[in-house]
Amino acid sequence: DNSLKNRIFDINKLSSEYYHKNLFTNKTALEYLSKRKINSKIAKEFHIGFANDSWDGLVNFLKNHGIAEEDIVRAGLASRKKNGNGYVDRFRNRIIFPIYDIKSRVIGFGGRVLDDSLPKYLNSPDTLVFSKGNHLYGLNNYLKSSNQERIILVEGYMDVISLYRSGITCAVASLGTALTINQVKLLKQYSSNIYVCYDSDEAGQRATLKAIDILTRSGVEPKVIILPNGNDPDDFIKENGIEEFEKIIEKALSYIEFKVYLMERKYDITKESQKIDFLREMAKILSGIKSSVAREIYLQKYSDKYNVSKEAILAEMGINNKREL
Ligand code: ATP
Ligand code: MN
Ligand code: MN
Ligand code: MN
Repeated sequence: DNSLKNRIFDINKLSSEYYHKNLFTNKTALEYLSKRKINSKIAKEFHIGFANDSWDGLVNFLKNHGIAEEDIVRAGLASRKKNGNGYVDRFRNRIIFPIYDIKSRVIGFGGRVLDDSLPKYLNSPDTLVFSKGNHLYGLNNYLKSSNQERIILVEGYMDVISLYRSGITCAVASLGTALTINQVKLLKQYSSNIYVCYDSDEAGQRATLKAIDILTRSGVEPKVIILPNGNDPDDFIKENGIEEFEKIIEKALSYIEFKVYLMERKYDITKESQKIDFLREMAKILSGIKSSVAREIYLQKYSDKYNVSKEAILAEMGINNKREL
């Protein structure tokens, strides 16, 4: 079948081989990966590659393999030069991460710079076979792994790879975008035991709240793994080792606990007026719990923790519910 879709899959496959072979000829790229603790075994498993600092390395390679220039553009791997003469590679001087679908077909690429220039990552544009919000990086590896009791949702390529290298093969990345409903549908097919472990910076926390929202609306009640001081999973493992990471998995919060935890940090609850404001916000969070036993459990927990009666919290929740009507 020579449909455009299949031609793009073929071009992607061919290109990923080109980048991957190329990696092992480039000292700078290998040094970068080794700095990030990626050895050649892991580089091979994830088929990591390197795009040379060249305007048309890939285009020429593909043309020599009989690929039409227009198809290279349709695969998102090159664009027409501004002056109209010839084509330039999309990825130049970047470490290349092929992105796979659940059938392990290469659907697109992510490319990282070797230094701190911007943009740090560049992804394939949407093509006939790739749309960022419909896929999860690492899901194909998860499906091949023997331990599928949970899925850990992380932000980035390096987080998936770092965890995998340390024996945690259940991490998938939403690729920096806000988690989409299609990604949730995909996740749900393989596990309902979802742990969110996004970066612990501001952006990551906001993204976590959004992910919780979209997951719970699809009927998945996630847990949240909290990393310290701005870390992402890759940083954390580098600094503390995998045993420590396993410990913080065990300490994961329910999504309700996470929301309350984040809310509490906005207030200085040693001050009465702020404690009151916090408790009112907390009551709002608790009134979102559908299960009455779960609500009872959290009521008990926070009533004890903040030394305020269950009745008072409940009454506050009632006020919230009336406001919504
Ligand atoms: P590294 O550890 O390599 O420095 P990271 O994965 O920690 O990078 P983040 O800035 O935390 O990088 O971003 C998380 C993910 O978001 C990236 O892995 C990438 O998939 C995506 N991303 C980040 N910046 C961009 C960008 N400018 N364009 C597209 N995607 C991006
Ligand atoms: Mn980040
Ligand atoms: Mn990160
Ligand atoms: Mn990182």
